[in-house]
Amino acid sequence: MKLAVVGAGPAGARLALDAARDGARVVVFDPAHPREKPCGGGLTAKGLAEVPAGPAHDPLPARFVADCRLESGEGEAVRVSLDRPVAIVSRREFDAWLLRRAQDAGAEHRAERVVEVDGDGSLRTARGERMRFDAIVGADGANSLVRRAFLAPTPPERRFVAAGWYAPGDSEMVVRFLPGVAGYLWLFPRRDHVAIGVGAPLRRFATRELLARLEAEVERDFPRLAGVLSRYAHTIPSPSTDPASILELAGVRWALVGDAGALADPITGEGLYYALRSARVLADVLRETGSPAGYPARALADFGHELLASARLFDRFYAPGYARRMVRYAQRSPAIREVLGELVLGDQGYVGLRRRLLRALPRFLWDSAVARLRPAA
Ligand SMILES: Cc1cc2nc3c(=O)[nH]c(=O)nc-3n(C[C@H](O)[C@H](O)[C@H](O)COP(=O)(O)OP(=O)(O)OC[C@H]3O[C@@H](n4cnc5c(N)ncnc54)[C@H](O)[C@@H]3O)c2cc1C
Repeated sequence: MKLAVVGAGPAGARLALDAARDGARVVVFDPAHPREKPCGGGLTAKGLAEVPAGPAHDPLPARFVADCRLESGEGEAVRVSLDRPVAIVSRREFDAWLLRRAQDAGAEHRAERVVEVDGDGSLRTARGERMRFDAIVGADGANSLVRRAFLAPTPPERRFVAAGWYAPGDSEMVVRFLPGVAGYLWLFPRRDHVAIGVGAPLRRFATRELLARLEAEVERDFPRLAGVLSRYAHTIPSPSTDPASILELAGVRWALVGDAGALADPITGEGLYYALRSARVLADVLRETGSPAGYPARALADFGHELLASARLFDRFYAPGYARRMVRYAQRSPAIREVLGELVLGDQGYVGLRRRLLRALPRFLWDSAVARLRPAA
């Protein structure tokens, strides 16, 4: 099979690696490497599990972090210990590392922009070269050209806007919910700097407004991180509550993975896991059937219901008082801190969350009673 992959971010590189290993002739197009893609770079444990193994001489370039401070944004905070670390990466380093894995497996990287794709498997590059493939995969990010050739662009009401800066220095990992903003700010420590950012629904806030809020919070509470190495802003597309927003992601000779397929978590903006996972699901379908046509149904069954559940939960999750209650309960109860740790790691999803909380309820009630008695004692 001759496969064109447009975009060498995590989705494109992971697909190129798997398809090349399966014996396909893979050409991956991306003119931008090496580059720092706007991103916090937080890889949950479930995301880390999708990262391929590397050779001993080229270890994964990441900072590993084993706890996270969660803040309600209204004064309460709780430190959540993770039973195994999450990774925080610089996208310049991580994406280049993944692309090396794809090249090691035999994929060819062409540093060229694709400017046109057609339903018959042909494409044109910015240099005017025309090529024909058995299938073309759009792994070209939030403003995907391949998506626009086959589907409508992801609409603004399905996009998070995220913006911030990279600062010199160090920090613990912090996630702070922002009252009045259906989103949060983050401090993610990397190997040699800190990624600082804020995200919220594009339809509700202008980037300028969000950045002003972030700057004020950082100046007040984390003044050592006010220095700027470089600034960034970009959108994160996600599915709607309708399964059709996932079932539309392929045809006979084309498919969309990662941000091009709008496969990020609407609540958290987590996209790295879904970029890697969607690529792996598509690679399996290509290996088994020789065509991408079966990929959307497989994607829905594999990880899609989790994304749809997140879209359904969004308003409840960001309702006034929710974050405050969550942090207060976690302060009082190790059982709730355990559930939050599982959420941060990605071990616990939205599907099954209610059942998991019900299981934690007896311990939560016990912890709460003990916490109430403790000051009296
Ligand atoms: C500010 C911000 C913070 C985020 N933080 C996190 C986080 O902490 N954790 C997390 O899990 N997710 C995070 N995300 C989401 C995450 O960055 C994306 O979901 C992820 O990068 C998607 O990977 P991808 O491979 O699909 O696309 P991308 O990483 O966007 O890669 C697309 C590639 O396609 C190339 N390309 C584009 N057009 C063409 C073309 N015409 N021809 C050839 N190549 C092309 C680009 O150069 C690019 O290299 C964040 C997003 C933003 C905006």
